[in-house]
Amino acid sequence: MRVRLVDAYGRQATDLRVSLTDRCNLRCGYCMPPEGLDWLPKPSLLTDDEVLRLVRIGVETLGITEVRYTGGEPLLRRGLPEIVARTTALSPRPEVSLTTNGIGLAKLARPLKDAGLDRVNVSLDTLDRDTFKTLAHRDRLADVLAGLEAAAAAGLTPVKVNAVLLRGVNEHEAVPLLRYCLDRGYELRFIEQMPLDAQHGWTRENMITADETLALLSERFELEPEPSELRGSAPAQAFVVEGARIGIIASVTRPFCGACDRVRLTADGQIRNCLFAREESNLRDAMRAGISDEEIAGRWAASVTAKLPGHGINDPAFLQPDRPMSAIGG
Ligand code: SAM
Repeated sequence: MRVRLVDAYGRQATDLRVSLTDRCNLRCGYCMPPEGLDWLPKPSLLTDDEVLRLVRIGVETLGITEVRYTGGEPLLRRGLPEIVARTTALSPRPEVSLTTNGIGLAKLARPLKDAGLDRVNVSLDTLDRDTFKTLAHRDRLADVLAGLEAAAAAGLTPVKVNAVLLRGVNEHEAVPLLRYCLDRGYELRFIEQMPLDAQHGWTRENMITADETLALLSERFELEPEPSELRGSAPAQAFVVEGARIGIIASVTRPFCGACDRVRLTADGQIRNCLFAREESNLRDAMRAGISDEEIAGRWAASVTAKLPGHGINDPAFLQPDRPMSAIGG
């Protein structure tokens, strides 16, 4: 049986984001409070075999061509290289990538490359140790930078860097971050802050918009927009700077929901058809109750069919999802 994950608006989901844990070793204020969160209880989390069963059904039956492991912090998941190796052994082989804060990547980059990992995205919002401590409530900047270097050395390329700018905290770092990435061959992407923090502290006024980011960068760099037909379903609007690519992800001010090809699996086995979905499909309990691969595929497809046309952040009636970003998988 082969089924495609197509929604009522004709969009096909081919890109699966899998959260491997909701835990994180940083406390970035746009994601969670300094004291952390109540983590999901261990028995509720998918085992490695359960994760791999769902990923296999996605790849073999439902047309998933890209698998991205995320979290929480996916490097905290024991046995990550083995999970990656089992994913790259699937047929047809999906592209496999990782979104990480980079802490621990200095050690794991090579084993992950050997397991078949194709690429990494590393989050880096500042190059200043004190700002890092303010923003992430941990003194780990050196570990992140070492992780980035190890990823590039291991050939997990293109190494992409995700940065979120926050008003009054790090917006003055747009230019230094770009300089740093250009000098090292990392592809920098600025992401607009979204209302996904556990504290519900997001405000439109405090978000640095894509236009503001572009204005800050234009003071020092010449940015050439890449033709929009090259964008496809990529969330980032791309620019060429000094011959290299950079991206601006304007999730709030220029939503790209019409081209969305993503579907998400949370660490506790819930399918979410959108980052901002308010409903989930519980594949974990269904799986533990013994349903067949075919039935799982059918439930998953039904969940995607129900995807709404847009995330709705700009609608007056918008309601933030109950789960914070760390528990959804960013
Ligand atoms: N721990 C990993 C990391 O730091 O990349 C993976 C999970 S994290 C939730 C994934 C990405 O989501 C990071 O690049 C992070 O900056 C971004 N993120 C988290 N909360 C966000 C928010 N409220 N708005 C925009 N991006 C956010």
